[in-house]
Amino acid sequence: MPPSRHLSPLLIASLLAASPALSPAATVQKGHAATHAGFKLDPVPTPAIDDAARMATFTLIDGERDRNSGELAVLADGKVPAGEDAPRENFFFAMNTAGGRIGVDLGKVLSVKSIGSYSWHAGGRGPQVYDLYAADGTAKDFNPAPKKGTDPATVGWKRVAKVDTRFKEGNGGGQHGVEISNPDGQPLGEIRHLLFDVAKTDDADPHGNTFFSEIDVIDAKAATPQRLKTPERIVKSYKSKDGGFRYIIDSTKAPALTEWTEKELLPVIEEWYPKLVEMLPSDGYRAPDVVNFEFRDDMGGTPAYAAGNRIALSATWFPGQLGREAKGCVVHEMGHVVQNYWRARQTNRQPSPTPGWVTEGICDYIRWFLYEPESKGAVIRDARQAKYDASYRVTANFLDWLTTAKDKDLVRKLNAAAREGRYDEKLWNEWTGKTVQELGEEWRKAIEDGKR
Ligand SMILES: [Zn+2]
Repeated sequence: MPPSRHLSPLLIASLLAASPALSPAATVQKGHAATHAGFKLDPVPTPAIDDAARMATFTLIDGERDRNSGELAVLADGKVPAGEDAPRENFFFAMNTAGGRIGVDLGKVLSVKSIGSYSWHAGGRGPQVYDLYAADGTAKDFNPAPKKGTDPATVGWKRVAKVDTRFKEGNGGGQHGVEISNPDGQPLGEIRHLLFDVAKTDDADPHGNTFFSEIDVIDAKAATPQRLKTPERIVKSYKSKDGGFRYIIDSTKAPALTEWTEKELLPVIEEWYPKLVEMLPSDGYRAPDVVNFEFRDDMGGTPAYAAGNRIALSATWFPGQLGREAKGCVVHEMGHVVQNYWRARQTNRQPSPTPGWVTEGICDYIRWFLYEPESKGAVIRDARQAKYDASYRVTANFLDWLTTAKDKDLVRKLNAAAREGRYDEKLWNEWTGKTVQELGEEWRKAIEDGKR
């Protein structure tokens, strides 16, 4: 409101009539989670599914939709994006533009209890920066679609709140939730029109436009809306007995496996991760001291995989394998975390690639010959299958033969070369005096002669 003391009483009366009955002191509650929190962003409630915005008309009053953005309808569909970079499931203004204005027409005047806005992006497009205006649409000079450059307060709107969820530090990536309401629980006012005057989150970043996921308008006179249900996350963290390692296990997607994981799998992890670290050393190398294990339900037919210090476990494959392959599979994946061959590029300007059969063969060698030799899972009965580069169990058998018949340190040397990006076929000669093909043939013969 402009200062009124210079205005004539008549004008004051008309200004008051033009302003919807809005209480002056709306509060803005903010919630944030750096990662996927299912939009459980206390103190902000999770997004509403059947709120008044669902029936409203959303209009792009000013600004340009990014060509990768979803339509405005995604803001009121009661759904949230599946991931932290899901452009089609969000609405955002175009690259190289500075925000814009979004209008929401509720269709009729409602007693609005609160307004919510939700956004999600891993980087600088996570936070929200906007001014919210409201109107009942009855003002004589009311303009339902004022462009940037026109102060909405001069054309029948009243500012309800100023929102800015950015942080002083960091890019603010993650999930953001905002709830605008009255601290006393009374409705915000009698409202038909809302105007979100959206600014960029970062003027210097051409991409600095918020990924808006959902906008909610809660009608004080309607039934309490349904809200998105967030499954309780089940994440446990364990410190190794010597204190040197930490294991974080997320079984949110496989709650039925939580007990098995703690009682059966954790002891294997605690025994074997430090063993793997000791078994696969190289100069100046330090294995990750935190390892994350996460059950996931989006892995298709893949039982497990490792990337960096994260191991993904299939929530659908594991339940059928508890007494069978489950633990050995985790030992194999921990092998990849310790191998860490991804880092060769950081320590070596021109790393030579390590063949996949070497990488997988080492992990399967440790699994089948050191972790669970009694399962005899990598025994080769038919010498015709004995191809040293056949990967996994077959290569594992070859490596076991090499360590017993040729050089007990061979796997350690092979691992160090791979990790440092200097794998080369010539190394086999250096280590054993023979080519890998000759070694493969000698091993095959040993199987054929029943000596293995
Ligand atoms: Zn593997």
